[in-house]
Amino acid sequence: MKKSALILLFSIFLLHSCANTSSEEKTPKADAKPTNSIGLVIHGGAGTILKKNMTPELEAEYKATLEKAAKKGYEILQNGGSSLDAVEQTIHILENSPLFNAGKGAVFANNGKNELDASIMEGKTLNAGAVAGVTNLKNPISAARKVMENSSHVLLARKGAEEFAAAQGLEVVDTNYFFTEKRFKSLQRAKQGDKDKAAYIDPYIKDYKHGTVGCVALDKNGNLAAGTSTGGMTNKKWNRIGDSPIIGAGTYANNKTCAVSSTGHGEYFIRAAVAYDISAMMEYKNLSLQEAAKEVIQKKLKNMGGDGGIIAIDAKGNLVAEFNTPGMYRAMVDEKGTITIGIYNE
Ligand code: ASP
Repeated sequence: MKKSALILLFSIFLLHSCANTSSEEKTPKADAKPTNSIGLVIHGGAGTILKKNMTPELEAEYKATLEKAAKKGYEILQNGGSSLDAVEQTIHILENSPLFNAGKGAVFANNGKNELDASIMEGKTLNAGAVAGVTNLKNPISAARKVMENSSHVLLARKGAEEFAAAQGLEVVDTNYFFTEKRFKSLQRAKQGDKDKAAYIDPYIKDYKHGTVGCVALDKNGNLAAGTSTGGMTNKKWNRIGDSPIIGAGTYANNKTCAVSSTGHGEYFIRAAVAYDISAMMEYKNLSLQEAAKEVIQKKLKNMGGDGGIIAIDAKGNLVAEFNTPGMYRAMVDEKGTITIGIYNE
C-alpha cells in the first residue's frame, strides 16, 4: 500500500515537471534573447550644412532639439519600452519642431502644398508600414505605424492614407499647420531658379533639401526598429515620392543585422536600395555595420552621384552615422545614456 502511494506521488511529480518543460519550450525564441544592450541614433537630415552659414543661436536650437529627442527615445528604452515606441515617440519630437523638414516645418511642393512621406519597420517580424503624399496628418510616422499594425498593406498614399489614418483616430490638422515662412521662401527661391527641371537635380536647390528626420533603436529584448519622416524635396512636382516611405531604400530593420534610416537625394537612395543593401552586406558578406555603411554611402551611392547619409544600429548596439555630404544633423545615445551630437563633418 505504502509502495503504491509512493509510485503514485512519483508519477504526479513526473507529469508536473514534463508539463513545465513543454510550456517553457513554447516561449518565443526572439523574446528569450535579451541583449541587455540598448541604443538609439537619430538624424535631422543631411546636406550642405556649413558652419559659416549657421548662427550660434540656430546651432544651439538644433542641438537642443536633437538632445531632447534622443533623451526621450533613451528614456523609453531604459524603462523597458519597445524600439518601435522609442522610434515613433522620438520622431514625434522632430516632426513637431519647425527646424526639420518633417511634420511642422516640412518643405513645400511646387503646388504650394506640404506633401509628407513616412515609414517604419520592425526588425523582429520584418513588418513595415508607410504613407506617402499625405497633407493633413500631424504625425505621419504614427500613420505609418498604423498601416503596419492595423492594415494588411505596407504603403498607402495620399487621400486614401489620410482617410485610413483619420479612421484610426490619428490627429488631423488644417494644412496651414505645416506652414513656415522659411520653407515658403525656399519654395519661392527654388521657383526662380527652376528652369523647368525637377527641384532635386537643380544644383541651386541642393542647398535646400536637407532636414528629413529618422530614428533607429535597439531595445532590451534585442529588437531593432527604424523610422523615417519627411516633407521630401522643395519644389517637387507631380506628386513625386522620395525614398523615405520606401522600405529598403529610406528605412529598413532586421533583427539579424541592423536598423537603418536614410536621408539625402531620394531618387539615388531608391535606385541603390541603400537601407536594405547595408543589411544585405552584413547578412551575406559578413561585413560589420560600419564597413557596410561606408561601402554603400562612400562608394556605391557616391559613384552613382547620390548625396546623403544614413544612421544605423546593429543587433549588438553598435551605432553608426555615415554621410557623404558636408553635414548631417545627428545624435547617438549608447547603452549608458551618453549622448553624442553632431552637425558638421567633424
Ligand atoms: N530623402 C528625402 C527625399 O528624397 C529628402 C531628404 O532626406 O532630405 O524625399
